[in-house]
Amino acid sequence: MCSVQDGDTGGPLQKEKISPGRKCMKCRTENAILITRVNDAFCKACFMVYVTHKFRATIGKSKLVRDGEKVLVAYSGGPSSSCLLHLITEGLSQRAHKKLRFIPGIVFIDETAVLVNLEEDGVAEKDRISELMASTGYPYQTRRLEEAICLDQGQHLPEADLSSLAESDQASVQSTDLAKQNDNLDRARIEIKSLFSSIKSLTAREDMLNRLRQRLLMEVAQVQGYSKVMTGHCGTRLAVNLLSDISQGRGAHVAMDTAFSDTRYPNIMLVRPIRDFSSKEVAMYNSLHGVESVFLPTLTTKTHEGSSIEHLTEAFVTGLQTDYPSTVSNIMRTGEKLSTEKRDGENSHCALCEAPLDTDVGACSALSAVEFSSLISRTRKGKVTTCGDSTTCCGEGDGSCHTKSEGVKKEEVLSVLCYGCRMTVKDMVEPAALPDKLLTQISYRLRRSKMKNDIQDFLLDPENS
Ligand SMILES: [Zn+2]
Ligand SMILES: [Zn+2]
Repeated sequence: MCSVQDGDTGGPLQKEKISPGRKCMKCRTENAILITRVNDAFCKACFMVYVTHKFRATIGKSKLVRDGEKVLVAYSGGPSSSCLLHLITEGLSQRAHKKLRFIPGIVFIDETAVLVNLEEDGVAEKDRISELMASTGYPYQTRRLEEAICLDQGQHLPEADLSSLAESDQASVQSTDLAKQNDNLDRARIEIKSLFSSIKSLTAREDMLNRLRQRLLMEVAQVQGYSKVMTGHCGTRLAVNLLSDISQGRGAHVAMDTAFSDTRYPNIMLVRPIRDFSSKEVAMYNSLHGVESVFLPTLTTKTHEGSSIEHLTEAFVTGLQTDYPSTVSNIMRTGEKLSTEKRDGENSHCALCEAPLDTDVGACSALSAVEFSSLISRTRKGKVTTCGDSTTCCGEGDGSCHTKSEGVKKEEVLSVLCYGCRMTVKDMVEPAALPDKLLTQISYRLRRSKMKNDIQDFLLDPENS
């Protein structure tokens, strides 16, 4: 776009208006009612076929979703995930041409704990979301975001499906357990609120929310035996994510964050089956099918355009897309050309987002220059209590030690994070505000690698033995 001159025909295609009487490009008999992609005019029936086919083709082409596989569908109430849910319900119904054959469960994550601009906790909206999930007839559940940081997580994640809700006897037996769970959750709610208020910028808060949401989804899937998680990210959203990822130093993870399948988690795959849909196609689909969506505010609702990097990128992409309809697909196609090398080993992944660590770079990198200058300008230092110190350690040095993790130094926390997550954690007033659960995991990992280093000299070299 930097060399656009008068009469230049190689520039981006501009939007065309639909003229009255224009015929559908597929059947050529019906009148077109909408234009999708750059300039394809469709009638209602042909658009439906086109959209359904696109969804089925995306799932079919990948050959990743097997028959009878348990798939957790992440539902937010928003237009894209409502569209995804409708496509899945249609695809699984008896009347579908070639029936989909996986077993879905629906999960809604209640993020109201960290939203400050929400009136009355969004009770009415959340009730409507539950009704909509129930109307599909598939098992569904609501999880609270604070469960992502709740200790002894596994105990309170049994699947709350339709059948178990009906059995009230079972509920009374478990009432004491339930009270304990609620107690834990209330504590986690306070903890998560203080975590978010300790993060200074809205960009970092949004990033933290995205990480925690993803961690919780994966945890629910893991505990309940789901092997896939489906999210309703449409192409427009992914294009925004791609650009904001790059702006936030997550360039190394762009491919994972926007591809059809995300394989960063060992046992569970994240899939994005409507990634080829634009937000316009989603809106068209929803309006033609009468699909209802529920509005819940986000962290950036009612804030100005430049309040966070993600919010600004969204305004940029959607603004460009309005005049140049190929914007999103161009961004996505460019993103598809990027890839990340996969590495193995427990220390090769970021402790927060699970993506491969991108911080293992040479001494002459931009990263080490940044680290060096922050080292020089640092004035405050964190407390030092590493395990292995004979007065505080209670374990055998195998990582089983339960010494409280408060003593983890900021530098140590940062050392197990990728560049993007480092930026987010650096934005916090004090890394000790990180959830205990996360700090425990981090200090476990630090002790493991310290132990490994300590005994390194006594290990047989696998190459020579
Ligand atoms: Zn047609
Ligand atoms: Zn990370």
